[in-house]
Amino acid sequence: MSAVLKVRGLRKEFETGSGRIVALRDVAFDVNAGEIVCIVGPSGSGKSTLLAMVAGLDAPTAGHILLDDEPVLGPGSDRGMVFQKDCLFPWLTVEQNVAFATALARHKRSDPEAAAERARSLILAVGLGAFKRALPRQLSGGMRQRAAIARALLCQPRILLMDEPFGALDAQTREQMQDLLLGLCGRGETTVLFVTHDVEEAVFLGDRVIVLSAHPGEIAAEIPVVLPRPRELEQKLDPEFSRVRREVVTALRAARREAAA
Ligand code: ADP
Ligand code: MG
Repeated sequence: MSAVLKVRGLRKEFETGSGRIVALRDVAFDVNAGEIVCIVGPSGSGKSTLLAMVAGLDAPTAGHILLDDEPVLGPGSDRGMVFQKDCLFPWLTVEQNVAFATALARHKRSDPEAAAERARSLILAVGLGAFKRALPRQLSGGMRQRAAIARALLCQPRILLMDEPFGALDAQTREQMQDLLLGLCGRGETTVLFVTHDVEEAVFLGDRVIVLSAHPGEIAAEIPVVLPRPRELEQKLDPEFSRVRREVVTALRAARREAAA
């Protein structure tokens, strides 16, 4: 299987008032087509920095990021992004927010009518059919994230990049959103790189969980999740689920101890 995303020898340093800090060191991994790969790590381990570089919003100090074997040199519509904060335009309706990228799609000479149709079907798929004319401030946090996911999927990105997208939601909404994401992306058509600090979420969503350690951010462990798909919420009660979760928690604690030492 060929990898959609290849990260090789990635290093990121930041210049700060008190000197240079190494945010990421020797980070290397692949994400295969149709895989959901989750990244967990303590706060400050470089998760957001890593995602920003894959998004092309920041450049590595050393190393390479290849998307379909092409180096990532800047942002592009081949990557969809969802952040913890929904980043919707407050003055645009759900429909207009989701369809926003059609302006860019038109730029690429793709069919604007097909893009508008895709926006409509995505709004239905994320359960916002009745709210397509609502403004972001009229929606709950979960609904705003639904709109953000629909918008990120509009251009049929090669990879969906998600940085703690459900981090600000209550536990029940969060589970609903996990279920929704799996319904949209958990059948192998969409490749996802998902950052979270919730271990249960990482194990539930992921085909693999990458554990980052802090200071500097390095891959401490890479743990396969061999649970059948489609994933159902009931699987969280499965003994195999608990076993994998324990493995990730143990790796994460070891990474934290190392950082504190
Ligand atoms: P995480 O998302 O895992 O919490 P970040 O990627 O936000 O971690 O940050 C990793 C490290 O890099 C932290 O020590 C943070 O302070 C530092 N860092 C991130 N962005 C910058 C920046 N623009 N300038 C200086 N330091 C930064
Ligand atoms: Mg972060």
